[in-house]
Amino acid sequence: MNIDQQLLSIIVCPACHGELSPATDAEELVCQGCGNAYPVRDDIPVLLVDEARKPD
Ligand SMILES: [Zn+2]
Repeated sequence: MNIDQQLLSIIVCPACHGELSPATDAEELVCQGCGNAYPVRDDIPVLLVDEARKPD
């Protein structure tokens, strides 16, 4: 996964506006607020609540 750091600094979770961090073991961005994990497809984050993997 290769996401631009500048992009990472401006995007936020669409559900809670929390900070997003790249997952270490998956092509996902994990919200530090609500825990939703957003998929990254072709290095493009998919910031849709409907597409997010919800925390347990
Ligand atoms: Zn969130």
